Amino acid sequence: MNDRGGVIVSGGGIGGLAAALAASRAGWEVRLFEGAPAFSEVGAGIQLGPNVVKVLHGWGLTEALQAVAAFPDRLQVCNAVSGQPLGELPLGDAMVQRYGAAYATVHRADLHRLLLSAVQQQDVKFHLGRPLQSFSQTAQAVTVQAGALEIEADALIGADGLWSTVRQRLLGDGLPRQTGHLAYRALLPQASLPAHLRSSHITAWLGPRLHVVHYPVRAGEWLNVVAIVQGQLEGDLDQWDHNHHAGELAAALAGTCTALQDLIAAIDGWRVWALCDRPPMAGAHQQAVGRVALLGDAAHPMLPYLAQGAGMALEDAAELGHALMQALDPAFDVPTMLQRYALNRWQRNARVQARALRNGQIFHADGLVRWGRDMALKLLGERLLDVPWLYGATPRQA
Ligand code: FAD
Repeated sequence: MNDRGGVIVSGGGIGGLAAALAASRAGWEVRLFEGAPAFSEVGAGIQLGPNVVKVLHGWGLTEALQAVAAFPDRLQVCNAVSGQPLGELPLGDAMVQRYGAAYATVHRADLHRLLLSAVQQQDVKFHLGRPLQSFSQTAQAVTVQAGALEIEADALIGADGLWSTVRQRLLGDGLPRQTGHLAYRALLPQASLPAHLRSSHITAWLGPRLHVVHYPVRAGEWLNVVAIVQGQLEGDLDQWDHNHHAGELAAALAGTCTALQDLIAAIDGWRVWALCDRPPMAGAHQQAVGRVALLGDAAHPMLPYLAQGAGMALEDAAELGHALMQALDPAFDVPTMLQRYALNRWQRNARVQARALRNGQIFHADGLVRWGRDMALKLLGERLLDVPWLYGATPRQA
């Protein structure tokens, strides 16, 4: 089959759906290729800073988000060993007043579903179970191959995640690096927990070579828990693994305070994920070349220690929509506008990647550094925990 025109998005995760939504709202015909036979999202939570919530507001998704998210009243940071509170950042209304939107926490599947429903209201064509295998581009067009299908388009957006095929073909810069950090994730109904373990805020426990974060999702009815420890995982890095690692997690958390151990002991179903990333972006050439652009984890996979990986994918999509809208003007062309998209995004993405890396070192510190961290948090908690350059941004949208 041969066809022509419009924008092709490879990947139907949070980033790919957001890209499809933005491109189609900008006036483009969009086709989305997803390798899996059906859309799905892992059972885990996700934090959305006010910068990200503003992107969703801009797409008219305020009510849809309100229906499924929780809006924690504060972020509280504690020492995982002593159990002592170290510092706090008010969220809720304080974020709305300071940055123009709330700080939300949401189940990934709920966020994915609300984006999918918005995309379905646009005229986007889905090709499920069709992994994009390769592409070639000229000054006039990009041609993608997915099985027997060959399609020519004006632009290709690689939103195909950490192990991106589009990135491999575009940049050929090797695989992501293993960080030696493992994320154990669990989701459970708050009602299944004893009252003292239920929570309506975000809590981060910082310990030597580990940290644990938990927060409410699904309008506060479920609790999402993620425990990060240092170690290696055997087997396929792009697959989730299961319960049998719970013993290893318990061993890694031995020596932490009772409140934290009680919570961990109350959970039986963990999934574990070996965290991979890439060094912070080095230039716009890593986000777009000619008629092909990268978005989300395909462009800038990062450690989740600033809780902004999906957030940056959504911000990318907002900027992409703006660029693609301008590309419809005869005065501009697609490669120029994708270049502008890349120029407007790469430095912020790189900064977020770098900050996530640094947070990892601070969160997992031991010895004197840990002591200094705890003192600083006690003295300057709110100032250290707030990130105005990140939360204060208001993305441009088509
Ligand atoms: P993905 O979600 O990986 O989606 C890629 C999609 O492309 C998939 O559907 C895949 O099937 C498809 N695909 C792959 N290859 C092909 C192909 N060849 N053709 C077609 N389709 C293909 N971010 C936050 O903002 N806040 C958080 O609190 C947060 N917490 C996190 C906690 C942990 C433990 C982890 C691991 C990550 C966290 N993140 C968080 C990061 C966030 O999960 C990712 O940044 C985000 O999911 C990236 O979305 P994506 O759409 O770019 O990639």
